[in-house]
Amino acid sequence: MSGSPAFLMRLVASGFSIAEKAQVIVQQVMSGGDLGVVEKTGAHDLQTKADRLVQLSICSSLARKFPKLTIIGEEIVVWVDPLDGTKEYTEGLLDHVTVLIGFSYAGKAIAGVINQPYYNYQAGAGAVLGRTIWGVLNLGVFGIQLKEAPEGKHIITTTRSHSSKLVNDCICAMKADEVIRVGGAGNKVIQLIEGKASAYVFASPGCKKWDTCAPEAILHAVSGKLTDIHGNPFQYHKDVKHMNSAGVLATLKNFDYYASLVPDSVKTALVP
Ligand code: AMP
Ligand code: MG
Ligand code: MG
Repeated sequence: MSGSPAFLMRLVASGFSIAEKAQVIVQQVMSGGDLGVVEKTGAHDLQTKADRLVQLSICSSLARKFPKLTIIGEEIVVWVDPLDGTKEYTEGLLDHVTVLIGFSYAGKAIAGVINQPYYNYQAGAGAVLGRTIWGVLNLGVFGIQLKEAPEGKHIITTTRSHSSKLVNDCICAMKADEVIRVGGAGNKVIQLIEGKASAYVFASPGCKKWDTCAPEAILHAVSGKLTDIHGNPFQYHKDVKHMNSAGVLATLKNFDYYASLVPDSVKTALVP
């Protein structure tokens, strides 16, 4: 039965070991020196050899371990981003990069694995490089020390390489104490659960379902909330539109406060 806890835990456990394998590939491609960069839809939408190799590795491992995954795929769908933050990877901002494996059931993000291949890379000798964070709805999140953002301080994390007037209009309206611009949807949700930011605000199309599924499941597993900019929940069934056309809004706490500050002009411009 595809919805059973035992099956889900087998899937998540495989996701964990597959994500650790992905970490090695991401690191090897970088140290090999040839990233094999290809522009997908333009200079702001890149793909590297690491994206391609990790995608292949994750898909073939899942297919080998779960040969019936496509059949049960009607209920459990796996959303994979082999390399989230590719632009930053090509620019050497290595700690922005993550590998995302998200699991949805009946259209809802229910579990996720996030590998951060270069976690600790500036921490000096002796520090373990890379980490894998995983979480299951109603169970919790593991592999990371949870922390809340400073009380009463509004720290917004947003895109570094996909900014626009709309993105900035929305951030301006939120009167943040601090705005952090970093790459990756996975990285920004990690910032929320590590207390480095209080809201992830991206008032633009561009993020896809594979960018949000694993981070959303992990954030929801610790009672946070990730939706589009209107506050509408995302759907993750297999036929859903890939593009998150109405942006992303996510917090660990105080979601309604940030949602109430999204200007009407931004909402009108971003149709789900
Ligand atoms: P960012 O916060 O800019 O790093 O974006 C988070 C994720 O959404 C990354 O995986 C990006 O590739 C994707 N993304 C966001 N905006 C765009 C865009 N305009 N074009 C292509 N991908 C985008
Ligand atoms: Mg991505
Ligand atoms: Mg990607």
